[in-house]
Formats: sequence, structure tokens, C-alpha cells
Amino acid sequence: MLFRVVQAAAFAAVLLALPAESRAQGSLNLYCSVQVEWCQAAANAFQRETGIRVSVSQKGSGEVLAQIRAEAQNPRGDLWFGGTGDPHLQAAEENLSAEYRPAVLDELHDWAQKQARDSRYRTVGIYAGALGFGFNTELLARRGIAPPACWRDLLEPRFRNEIQMANPQSSGTAYVMIATIVQIMGEEPAFDYLKALHRNINAYPRQGTGPIKSVARGETGVSISFVHDAVTERLGGFPVGSAVPCEGSGYEVGSMSIIRGARNLRNAQRFYDWALTPAAQGLGAEAKQFQTPSNRATPLPPEAPQMSQIRLIDYDFAKYGASAERRRLIERWDREVNTLP
Ligand code: PLP
Repeated sequence: MLFRVVQAAAFAAVLLALPAESRAQGSLNLYCSVQVEWCQAAANAFQRETGIRVSVSQKGSGEVLAQIRAEAQNPRGDLWFGGTGDPHLQAAEENLSAEYRPAVLDELHDWAQKQARDSRYRTVGIYAGALGFGFNTELLARRGIAPPACWRDLLEPRFRNEIQMANPQSSGTAYVMIATIVQIMGEEPAFDYLKALHRNINAYPRQGTGPIKSVARGETGVSISFVHDAVTERLGGFPVGSAVPCEGSGYEVGSMSIIRGARNLRNAQRFYDWALTPAAQGLGAEAKQFQTPSNRATPLPPEAPQMSQIRLIDYDFAKYGASAERRRLIERWDREVNTLP
């Protein structure tokens, strides 16, 4: 009996030691598809400001989509933060995410608002980033290989076994690449290109940032990745250069969605509003992530690639984020390219 009283008193003391808000505000389960440093910085800042306990699970965009689909009858996540826009649009179409109109929608760039409209307000743009190449300048120089400047360069024999791109089944980045090539060349020539490219690929890692990290470590010469990720590695001290393909390139509207059936719906909505504010968006640059933030009032970090200076295609997000199209292209890649020796 005495033990129970002591135990109850100890428990009460722990409760009293917590800030009042964290006792009252509950929790939030965040599925996060940006780099883990940013996921954690966002979770910590939100938790500090609101007292809501945030748990983070970091996975690639394709993997989170598959998880949300598998959990649809019994959702375990509340909010999906970051990752390429196409799978967020696919989740919206498949009724896996919940409609929500954030308070600051009018403060966002047009491309971020369009993402919300295209999904009937089930997702929203939080950042943009251009697709391109990363390369290890020291490794290529040592091997006497000139860096790639154009998509067509990647097929040249000088890049045999020298290139990595991620696997589009798990990585949203890799799907942006496939959709970009299809939009630039047309579907049949695009698949001929992807098959020819396969000869020069040494691995298809699971996550979109896998290839640029291999470039930074000198494990591969070239990556197909977002150019902002090359900036992160360069600032980390690695000999990493980047280029945007001469034929033009695709880009992502990194997005955020509330998971339908979220158990902590009010907290998810609160995070959604918070994550679109300039103060929250500034955490990306603090975590050395250099995408273009979606709130017009968030300063563009000086290190970030300037989207307006990059030759971008008019990426058709509605078409390539449609569930049937995205699924079809990934399955075709898996059947016709991934099975090649
Ligand atoms: N990390 C960064 C820095 C990104 O910009 C993105 C794209 O939204 C991702 C990760 C997405 O990763 P994945 O290609 O694994 O879905």
C-alpha cells in the first residue's frame, strides 16, 4: 500500500515537472519525407512551441504513400510532411488524405496554391526544387571524365557504371526523373532512353538522397538528384558539383498532407498551419536544406539554387500525379528497365 502511495506521488511529481502544455496537448505522428535533420528540427520546434509531443518516422515519398495505403483502415500517422508532390496528389485522389484549407494559403507562391487546388485542398506545396545532376569533381577529374551537362550525355560510354538514380518505387525523386524524361522526349523514346541509361547505372538506392550521398562519399561519379541536395553536400565539405540538364529539367513541388482518419486531427491541422509560416519554413535552411520555400515571405537562403534561373519544363503535375498514370509508369519501368541485366 505504502509502495502504491509513493509510486502515485512520484508519478504526480513527474507530471507537475512537465510544462503545462505538454500535459494537455497530446501528440502528433509525423511521417516525414525530407532529410531527417529537417524532420527532427521541425518536430522539435513545433513541440517546443505547442507542447504537442511529435514522433517522427522518416521514409521516401513512395514508401510513405505505400504505408498510408496499407494503414488506411487503421491510420497510425497523422501528417505527411515533405516529399515530392506527385505521390501527395496520388494520395489525394485515392482518398488517403483529408481536405484542409490552411490559414495562410494566400501567402503562398502560385505553384504551392496550385498544388492545393489540383488536389481539392488535400495537399499543399511547402517547397520547390529542380532536378539535375550531382557529381564528384575530384573523382571525375581523377578518372579524366568530363561532368555531364545534358540528359543525352548520361548515355555515353564514359559514364559506364558511374551513375546512380534512386528506385522510383520507393523514391519520389526518381519518379520525377522518369516523368521529366517522358515529358521531354515522349513516352516511347523516354523508355528507350531509360533502358540505355540502365547500362551506366551501378545502383538504384531506395531513397532519393541516396545517390547524391554516394557521390559525396566518392562511391559513384554521378547522381540524378535535386540540385539543392548537391548544395547540402558541398557545404558539408564534399567535392560535389551540380548541373541542370541543357535540354531542360523537371522539378518538384514538395508537399504536405493530413492523413485521412488521423487520430490527432486537430494537432495535424495546427502543424499544417504552422509549417507554412516563414518562421517554420526557415528551419529548412537552418538544417542545411536549400529548397525554395513556398511562403512568399520566407527568405530564399542565399545558397539555394534560383529556380527562376533554371530552364524548367512545364511539368504537368495533374497528369503525372494522377494515380493511374504514376502507377503505370512505375510498373512499366520496373518491368522493362529494372529487370534488365
Ligand atoms: N530529401 C530531399 C532533400 C528532397 O528534396 C526530397 C524531395 O522532396 C526528398 C528527400 C524525397 O525523397 P525521396 O526521393 O526518397 O522520396
